[in-house]
Amino acid sequence: MRALQTVLTQKGYIDPAALDVLIDTYQTRIGPRNGARVIARAWAEPAFFDWLLRDASAAIASMGYTGRQGEHMVAVPNTGQVHNMVVCTLCSCYPWPVLGLPPVWYKSAPYRSRVVRDPRGVLADFGVSLPAGQEIRVWDSTAEVRYLVVPQRPADTDHLDVEQLSALVTRDSMIGAGLPKSAATVP
Ligand code: FE
Repeated sequence: MRALQTVLTQKGYIDPAALDVLIDTYQTRIGPRNGARVIARAWAEPAFFDWLLRDASAAIASMGYTGRQGEHMVAVPNTGQVHNMVVCTLCSCYPWPVLGLPPVWYKSAPYRSRVVRDPRGVLADFGVSLPAGQEIRVWDSTAEVRYLVVPQRPADTDHLDVEQLSALVTRDSMIGAGLPKSAATVP
Protein backbone atom coordinates (compact mmCIF):
# COMPACT_ATOMS: atom_id res chain seq x y z
CA MET A 1 0.00 0.00 0.00
CA ARG A 2 2.68 2.48 1.09
CA ALA A 3 4.92 1.68 -1.87
CA LEU A 4 1.99 2.24 -4.23
CA GLN A 5 1.08 5.47 -2.46
CA THR A 6 4.67 6.74 -2.77
CA VAL A 7 4.87 5.99 -6.47
CA LEU A 8 1.50 7.59 -7.21
CA THR A 9 2.43 10.67 -5.17
CA GLN A 10 5.81 11.05 -6.91
CA LYS A 11 4.14 10.84 -10.30
CA GLY A 12 1.61 13.45 -9.21
CA TYR A 13 -1.48 11.25 -9.49
CA ILE A 14 -2.56 11.71 -5.89
CA ASP A 15 -2.29 14.46 -3.31
CA PRO A 16 -1.22 13.01 0.09
CA ALA A 17 -3.10 15.77 1.97
CA ALA A 18 -6.33 14.89 0.18
CA LEU A 19 -5.74 11.23 0.97
CA ASP A 20 -5.29 12.06 4.67
CA VAL A 21 -8.61 13.94 4.71
CA LEU A 22 -10.39 10.96 3.10
CA ILE A 23 -8.92 8.45 5.53
CA ASP A 24 -9.68 10.65 8.54
CA THR A 25 -13.25 11.11 7.34
CA TYR A 26 -13.89 7.37 7.23
CA GLN A 27 -12.03 6.68 10.47
CA THR A 28 -13.57 9.38 12.65
CA ARG A 29 -16.57 11.07 11.06
CA ILE A 30 -18.21 8.14 9.26
CA GLY A 31 -18.60 4.88 11.09
CA PRO A 32 -21.01 2.45 12.71
CA ARG A 33 -22.27 5.11 15.16
CA ASN A 34 -24.15 6.60 12.18
CA GLY A 35 -25.92 3.31 11.57
CA ALA A 36 -26.59 2.91 15.29
CA ARG A 37 -28.42 6.25 15.32
CA VAL A 38 -30.54 5.11 12.37
CA ILE A 39 -31.46 1.86 14.12
CA ALA A 40 -32.20 3.54 17.48
CA ARG A 41 -34.48 6.04 15.79
CA ALA A 42 -36.28 3.22 13.98
CA TRP A 43 -36.82 1.48 17.34
CA ALA A 44 -38.18 4.66 18.89
CA GLU A 45 -40.28 6.04 16.00
CA PRO A 46 -42.65 3.63 14.21
CA ALA A 47 -43.12 6.09 11.31
CA PHE A 48 -39.36 6.22 10.74
CA PHE A 49 -39.14 2.42 10.97
CA ASP A 50 -41.81 2.15 8.23
CA TRP A 51 -39.96 4.68 6.07
CA LEU A 52 -36.68 2.83 6.56
CA LEU A 53 -38.26 -0.42 5.32
CA ARG A 54 -39.99 1.30 2.38
CA ASP A 55 -37.09 3.49 1.22
CA ALA A 56 -33.95 3.06 3.26
CA SER A 57 -31.86 5.34 1.02
CA ALA A 58 -34.20 8.29 1.60
CA ALA A 59 -34.76 7.63 5.31
CA ILE A 60 -31.01 7.36 5.94
CA ALA A 61 -30.20 10.38 3.75
CA SER A 62 -32.70 12.43 5.79
CA MET A 63 -30.33 12.00 8.74
CA GLY A 64 -27.42 13.32 6.67
CA TYR A 65 -25.76 9.96 6.02
CA THR A 66 -25.08 9.89 2.30
CA GLY A 67 -22.17 9.23 0.03
CA ARG A 68 -20.23 6.64 -1.82
CA GLN A 69 -21.21 2.99 -1.36
CA GLY A 70 -24.53 3.98 0.16
CA GLU A 71 -26.49 5.17 -2.84
CA HIS A 72 -29.02 2.34 -2.83
CA MET A 73 -29.71 1.05 0.68
CA VAL A 74 -32.11 -1.71 1.67
CA ALA A 75 -33.01 -2.30 5.33
CA VAL A 76 -33.84 -5.87 6.35
CA PRO A 77 -35.59 -6.21 9.72
CA ASN A 78 -34.94 -9.07 12.12
CA THR A 79 -38.06 -10.59 13.69
CA GLY A 80 -38.79 -13.50 15.97
CA GLN A 81 -39.09 -15.65 12.83
CA VAL A 82 -36.25 -14.32 10.68
CA HIS A 83 -32.63 -13.34 11.35
CA ASN A 84 -30.84 -11.52 8.52
CA MET A 85 -27.14 -11.60 7.66
CA VAL A 86 -25.23 -9.61 5.06
CA VAL A 87 -22.29 -10.65 2.94
CA CYS A 88 -20.66 -9.71 -0.33
CA THR A 89 -19.75 -13.08 -1.84
CA LEU A 90 -17.95 -11.42 -4.75
CA CYS A 91 -15.77 -8.92 -2.91
CA SER A 92 -16.47 -6.57 0.00
CA CYS A 93 -19.44 -4.28 -0.86
CA TYR A 94 -20.55 -2.61 2.35
CA PRO A 95 -22.68 0.44 3.29
CA TRP A 96 -19.93 2.95 4.10
CA PRO A 97 -22.09 5.97 5.06
CA VAL A 98 -23.78 4.06 7.90
CA LEU A 99 -21.15 1.49 8.92
CA GLY A 100 -17.82 3.04 7.93
CA LEU A 101 -15.13 0.78 6.52
CA PRO A 102 -15.74 -2.99 6.60
CA PRO A 103 -14.04 -5.16 9.24
CA VAL A 104 -11.28 -7.47 8.02
CA TRP A 105 -13.37 -10.61 8.59
CA TYR A 106 -16.15 -9.25 6.34
CA LYS A 107 -13.67 -9.17 3.46
CA SER A 108 -12.18 -12.59 4.24
CA ALA A 109 -12.72 -15.54 1.92
CA PRO A 110 -13.84 -17.89 4.75
CA TYR A 111 -16.69 -15.55 5.85
CA ARG A 112 -17.79 -14.85 2.30
CA SER A 113 -17.93 -18.48 1.26
CA ARG A 114 -19.15 -20.07 4.47
CA VAL A 115 -21.93 -17.69 5.52
CA VAL A 116 -24.03 -18.74 2.54
CA ARG A 117 -23.56 -22.47 3.24
CA ASP A 118 -23.48 -22.52 7.01
CA PRO A 119 -24.78 -19.29 8.51
CA ARG A 120 -25.49 -20.96 11.84
CA GLY A 121 -21.91 -22.20 12.07
CA VAL A 122 -20.60 -18.71 11.31
CA LEU A 123 -22.88 -17.22 13.97
CA ALA A 124 -21.58 -19.77 16.46
CA ASP A 125 -18.05 -18.54 15.71
CA PHE A 126 -19.27 -15.07 16.62
CA GLY A 127 -20.71 -16.44 19.87
CA VAL A 128 -24.31 -16.13 18.72
CA SER A 129 -26.83 -18.94 18.91
CA LEU A 130 -30.36 -18.38 17.66
CA PRO A 131 -33.52 -20.33 18.50
CA ALA A 132 -33.74 -23.43 16.27
CA GLY A 133 -36.98 -22.23 14.70
CA GLN A 134 -35.62 -18.88 13.61
CA GLU A 135 -34.90 -18.85 9.87
CA ILE A 136 -31.63 -17.23 8.71
CA ARG A 137 -31.67 -15.21 5.51
CA VAL A 138 -28.36 -14.21 3.92
CA TRP A 139 -28.33 -11.15 1.68
CA ASP A 140 -25.62 -10.85 -0.97
CA SER A 141 -24.55 -7.23 -1.48
CA THR A 142 -23.72 -5.98 -4.93
CA ALA A 143 -22.19 -2.89 -6.44
CA GLU A 144 -25.74 -1.49 -6.62
CA VAL A 145 -27.47 -2.60 -3.42
CA ARG A 146 -26.19 -2.39 0.18
CA TYR A 147 -28.07 -3.99 3.05
CA LEU A 148 -28.48 -2.81 6.63
CA VAL A 149 -29.83 -5.29 9.18
CA VAL A 150 -32.33 -3.79 11.61
CA PRO A 151 -31.81 -5.84 14.78
CA GLN A 152 -34.71 -6.48 17.13
CA ARG A 153 -35.06 -3.96 19.92
CA PRO A 154 -33.79 -5.60 23.12
CA ALA A 155 -36.25 -6.33 25.92
CA ASP A 156 -36.72 -3.96 28.86
CA THR A 157 -35.63 -0.84 26.98
CA ASP A 158 -38.88 1.18 27.19
CA HIS A 159 -37.29 3.68 29.56
CA LEU A 160 -34.29 4.45 27.32
CA ASP A 161 -34.03 7.49 25.05
CA VAL A 162 -32.72 7.36 21.48
CA GLU A 163 -29.15 8.19 22.51
CA GLN A 164 -29.13 5.38 25.09
CA LEU A 165 -30.74 2.99 22.60
CA SER A 166 -28.07 3.74 20.01
CA ALA A 167 -25.40 2.65 22.50
CA LEU A 168 -26.92 -0.86 22.37
CA VAL A 169 -26.53 -1.14 18.60
CA THR A 170 -23.26 -2.82 17.68
CA ARG A 171 -21.67 -2.80 14.24
CA ASP A 172 -21.93 -6.58 14.01
CA SER A 173 -25.65 -6.48 14.84
CA MET A 174 -26.19 -4.33 11.74
CA ILE A 175 -24.38 -6.92 9.59
CA GLY A 176 -26.30 -9.74 11.25
CA ALA A 177 -23.16 -11.35 12.70
CA GLY A 178 -24.14 -10.24 16.19
CA LEU A 179 -27.01 -9.12 18.37
CA PRO A 180 -27.55 -5.76 20.10
CA LYS A 181 -26.31 -5.39 23.67
CA SER A 182 -28.80 -5.96 26.45
CA ALA A 183 -30.42 -3.15 28.42
CA ALA A 184 -28.34 -4.14 31.44
CA THR A 185 -25.24 -2.68 29.76
CA VAL A 186 -26.64 0.89 29.98
CA PRO A 187 -25.17 2.63 33.01
FE1 FE B 1 -18.46 -6.47 -3.14
